[in-house]
Amino acid sequence: MKNIKDYDLKDLELEFENMGEKKYRAGQIFHWLYVEKVKSFDEMTNLSIELREKLKKNYTMCNYNILRKQESSDGTKKYLFDVLDGNAIETVLMQYHHGKTVCVSTQIGCKMGCKFCASTGIQFIRNLSAGEIVEQILAVEQDIGENISNIVYMGIGEPLDNYDNVIKSIRIMNNQKGLNIGARHISVSTSGLVPKIYDLAQENIPCTLSISLHATTDEQRSKMMPVNNAYNISQLLQACKDYIKTTNRRISFEYALAKDNNDNLEDAKRLVKLLKGMLCHVNLIPINKIENGTFTKSTNENIIKFRDYLNDNGIVATIRRELGSDIDAACGQLRRKNL
Ligand code: SAH
Repeated sequence: MKNIKDYDLKDLELEFENMGEKKYRAGQIFHWLYVEKVKSFDEMTNLSIELREKLKKNYTMCNYNILRKQESSDGTKKYLFDVLDGNAIETVLMQYHHGKTVCVSTQIGCKMGCKFCASTGIQFIRNLSAGEIVEQILAVEQDIGENISNIVYMGIGEPLDNYDNVIKSIRIMNNQKGLNIGARHISVSTSGLVPKIYDLAQENIPCTLSISLHATTDEQRSKMMPVNNAYNISQLLQACKDYIKTTNRRISFEYALAKDNNDNLEDAKRLVKLLKGMLCHVNLIPINKIENGTFTKSTNENIIKFRDYLNDNGIVATIRRELGSDIDAACGQLRRKNL
């Protein structure tokens, strides 16, 4: 059966026309799904009973059940959702004073193999569909009884390795007749799939692009992130420059600081050289320890020194607040779980 949440509004209209139904029905359903946030076709009371029966026969609604919910002392919540095929995914809710942010997963497992990330070393199973990505937002909203204002594509998986579904999910979230989450409130993070960065620049979606840079030499980056063997730092930064030029959007570079690995002044100096003149921001993440991981967190002193060096040399840098590390919900701590 097809998942009704896999369609953005345009596709749903097309689907309805092909079914011999009126196009505006698609808009009504979109409204029920993303504004009224109903959980069954029976609640769509402005559709005829006949049409509701037809929908029930042909489509699922992919409502997620919460298998497990953990709450951090800082208010962060980590959900384990049943994705209805024997697998489970993790989604994180972070509460900032400017609103509630959900960190969504895009794949069941991940192929990228970053050495410092807990999502590595688990088997890649499959991509999530657009509807399965969007459902994470709906399921969290239902649980907390509040709307979500920001989305970060920073859960398990490499968003640009599931490009089409990720783009479609953004269009569904972004649609003013749907969840109506502004593109500027949506961040997509990538480990650096260069060709897809060029593609993303052409989509005309003004979301924020985050690049997991983490190192300043190819030797160092390849040791941390195998993707660097396919697309090196210079190719990556060239794609970023193209992205900025095409979209006029600022890029956010993520840099996870690991002790004695990428956190000394020489690294900071090289980072300044690499990013000089780019419309960008650097997000410093004290690296989170993972089971069997070889990397450990930089000292606070080093992290502050690193930030100050960047700021003093014309690169805007902030230290990302650590949220949810007591429940393994922080950056890099998510793992695919079996049911
Ligand atoms: N695959 C995408 C999306 C994951 S986003 C990407 O790589 O960008 C998660 C962010 O957390 C990425 O920047 C990732 O590099 C970072 N990360 C992974 N493991 C981490 C760890 N142990 N500590 C801190 N950050 C980590």
